[in-house]
Amino acid sequence: MNDPRPSCALTIAGSDSGGGAGIQADLKTFAAHRVHGLSALAALTAQHTRGVTAVHVPDTAFLRAQIDACFDDFAITAVKLGMLATGEVIHAVADAIEHHRPAHVVLDPVMVATSGARLLAADALDALRHRLLPLATIVTPNLPEAELLIGRAIGSRDQMHEACDALLAMGCRALMLKGGHLADGGDDVIDVFADHVTRSTIRHPRLAVEAHGTGCTLSSAIAARLCHGDALPDACDAASGYVHRALLGGYRPGRSDVLVLDHF
Ligand code: PLP
Repeated sequence: MNDPRPSCALTIAGSDSGGGAGIQADLKTFAAHRVHGLSALAALTAQHTRGVTAVHVPDTAFLRAQIDACFDDFAITAVKLGMLATGEVIHAVADAIEHHRPAHVVLDPVMVATSGARLLAADALDALRHRLLPLATIVTPNLPEAELLIGRAIGSRDQMHEACDALLAMGCRALMLKGGHLADGGDDVIDVFADHVTRSTIRHPRLAVEAHGTGCTLSSAIAARLCHGDALPDACDAASGYVHRALLGGYRPGRSDVLVLDHF
């Protein structure tokens, strides 16, 4: 029989009606890692592989009710935070995390979708910096998100390392800075894992595809690996491998060329 009390991961994030990113990608990733997945919907998007057509943000009292219901019944080892949409939602989520104190918080600082749609209000950056960065076990920004967080451009590998220093100085405990957007990126995508004592790089061959939901999947896979007891650098390594394999097996369910990841 399976473990009757598996560890659980909770995603607090946005829903993607197209099933490629957001809560839907998170739950598929948790299931693929044999972790019981819970969800609290912080935002709902009307979306397909070509873009976001509408966003609805439920009120924060209802969001808090979802989070409290999950913590009241399940042994939650890790929480993944994704699209939080507004500063008000960020404050509500930070209050809930401070109240429930899960062992691990994986923060994907979702700001803008690959399609260009804004997924976080422009005035919510300060709330993200001051309320959520200090609560996160690890933050997983891509380069555009890291640039907004530190307030300057990142155009080289050296500047990626300087950005890691800046984010650690801002109160991050650890981060995985994703290098996929680097202009002189070369044949490999190189991500940097950094905390206050160690630093390592994670490298994969660059795949020439336009994909949807990679960031959501990576942060959920890290949360799932943490549920299984991995150390943080190992969780990042394993999660990165998972995303790479899911991309290799990716498929195109919509009318566009955008690839959705394979979690089967
Ligand atoms: N929609 C939702 C609800 C998301 O949370 C995200 C990313 O985190 C996206 C869309 C964007 O995904 P991508 O940039 O991979 O297309």
